[in-house]
Amino acid sequence: MYVTYKKMKSFYMKNVDYIIVGDGYAALFFAHQLLLNNKSFVIFSEGKKSASQISAGIINPVVLKKFTTFWLAQEQIDFLKKSLKEIEFYTGENYLIESPIHRIFHDENEQKLWLKKSDNEELKNFLDENFDHLNDVKNDFHTGKVNQSARLNVKGFFAGLLNYLENKGNLIKEKFDYSEIDTLNSTYKDFSFKNILFCEGMGVKENPYFSNIAVIPNKGHHIRVKLSDSIPEDITIKKKHFLFPLDNNLHFYGGTYDREQLHHEIDHSAVEQLQKGLSEFYLNDFEIKEVHFGFRPTVKDRRPILGRHAQYSNLYVFNGLGARGILNGCYFSKTLFDYIENNIPLPKEISIDRF
Ligand SMILES: Cc1cc2nc3c(=O)[nH]c(=O)nc-3n(C[C@H](O)[C@H](O)[C@H](O)COP(=O)(O)OP(=O)(O)OC[C@H]3O[C@@H](n4cnc5c(N)ncnc54)[C@H](O)[C@@H]3O)c2cc1C
Repeated sequence: MYVTYKKMKSFYMKNVDYIIVGDGYAALFFAHQLLLNNKSFVIFSEGKKSASQISAGIINPVVLKKFTTFWLAQEQIDFLKKSLKEIEFYTGENYLIESPIHRIFHDENEQKLWLKKSDNEELKNFLDENFDHLNDVKNDFHTGKVNQSARLNVKGFFAGLLNYLENKGNLIKEKFDYSEIDTLNSTYKDFSFKNILFCEGMGVKENPYFSNIAVIPNKGHHIRVKLSDSIPEDITIKKKHFLFPLDNNLHFYGGTYDREQLHHEIDHSAVEQLQKGLSEFYLNDFEIKEVHFGFRPTVKDRRPILGRHAQYSNLYVFNGLGARGILNGCYFSKTLFDYIENNIPLPKEISIDRF
């Protein structure tokens, strides 16, 4: 019997609905959609600490400079909480830390602005009208509490989910090699795929199919500090940056924003900025134990970029999560899934076609 090379090849090929490239928030929240919908997939992880893994984990519906909110904030918060419950169902762990943000006011004007904004229809569910005074930090003008804000246990989330996916055989710990994609036959090495979704964060610049999408790196540092006088309460304090406890007797403080110094090393001016920022409201001594940095994939209009390749109809991108990787990654993973699987058009605000 005559067997063609193509037939022979397809015999040992592993068929998957999706290949996902990357292992940050975009990739893992999309993988969650695939799990919910019984789709087969593999994730390629090159094993570098992603921007997601060094993120603070803050879940915040308010822009804390001007006390404004953003597009779909309430929907995003609700959807995230629902999704984390679903993830808890299969990993067995809750990663949501329901500890709200307390924003330290700089002066009376900020207090007045907060109160005025808390009357606003869009903000009234987020800005608490009653101010709090914190005992362990300098807050002469008190603090405003952001209702519905919370934190993700970042370390637990990635350890739990990646471990779950590895045990199920969904995780491939190697760098994805773009030159091995055969677009004609929809194969990659020994995988035959229906779709590939690229979720590489700033790594997308190496992707020949999507390197020109309009994402701009924004470097962020955070420090992990040992406070000489610990803050007993598990709260998230915000002044310039966020301060909150980690699980190892250290506190997280960060992150900075920088579009200029984009080298792949620690930037000492960012560390100084953090040191100064923290000492403005934590008046006791602290020791910097660790410094971490990562690159946020940001977009000029502050909206993610989702969509299909103009020429290859089964190649997709999910990027531009910016400073809100958790909310954007979770909410828009469903939007993207519905677009690919159910032909529901992408809102123009986030579509790759808007550029
Ligand atoms: C200091 C700091 C603090 C932050 N704090 C918060 C916060 O509190 N809340 C919040 O919501 N967001 C926060 N963010 C933003 C958030 O981290 C980003 O929006 C998010 O990480 C982007 O996720 P991503 O999945 O698109 O990309 P990434 O997290 O960068 O993940 C992409 C992954 O793909 C991998 N990859 C790339 N190319 C390949 C390849 N060829 N093969 C295999 N793997 C590949 C990379 O190694 C990387 O691990 C913060 C960011 C920083 C820097």
